[in-house]
Amino acid sequence: PNLDEVGKLASTFNTMLERLELSDKQLRETLDAERRFVADASHELRTPLTTILGNAGLLLKVPNMSPEDRQESLEQIYEEADRMRRLVSDLLTLARADAGFRLKQEPVKVQPVVESAVREMEHRATDRQLRIDKISDVEVVGDKDALKQLVLILLDNAIKYTRNQDSIQVEVEKDDSQAVIRVADTGIGISQEHLPHIFERFYRADTSRSSDGTGLGLSIAKWIVEQHCGSISVASEIGKGSIFEVKLPAKK
Ligand code: ADP
Repeated sequence: PNLDEVGKLASTFNTMLERLELSDKQLRETLDAERRFVADASHELRTPLTTILGNAGLLLKVPNMSPEDRQESLEQIYEEADRMRRLVSDLLTLARADAGFRLKQEPVKVQPVVESAVREMEHRATDRQLRIDKISDVEVVGDKDALKQLVLILLDNAIKYTRNQDSIQVEVEKDDSQAVIRVADTGIGISQEHLPHIFERFYRADTSRSSDGTGLGLSIAKWIVEQHCGSISVASEIGKGSIFEVKLPAKK
């Protein structure tokens, strides 16, 4: 073989090696992310479980507990078990997402989906103004149930992170070839420091540590949006409120 061929062979080997190294790095990153996910999930599940076991132990061991203490223990058990149920359901959704689960690809009218999500949340928006300000008959291609879940997640957050007398406005628009769904609230807002992270799994801003959230809602929302080849963004100011905007390709 002449030198030219040897040179070519060497460069081919180098390219192969580079590719191998790259995929090795990606593989390691994926494994790290998976390990972190399992560790975070276990940690999040252990906290309510500890409360449940503690209270159940009390109820079993203290026979002459006052009715008030008994009631309080039972309430805590109920609340924490409910929290675990929500966590497990969110974790299942994300596990399916990781396993490559594909959503339906059907024509969906956005208006009824948004209206039904708003109706479902109305009873929780006590002392807040929840209203649809703009509606459009825009259609997209995708999964009706998943899109409803997406709007429910945004509304759930809008309710959780607002105070009495605050307002929540929902808008649906057709903008060029896109369907735009906007959920704006006048609530507590998100600081610039937390803003880039809120779509990450288990991420919660300090202000919401005490809320009953799982920290998984927005990561599920992001997955649903990506499955529809769309994008989700947020603008927020602490103390003033937040605007979440979803853009999905409109059906032609
Ligand atoms: P959680 O279950 O904690 O609500 P999410 O993934 O839905 O988890 O949201 C992540 C974090 O983003 C929340 O913990 C909260 O700090 C912040 N956040 C989300 N939506 C809003 C909102 N409308 N107003 C203020 N903060 C919000």
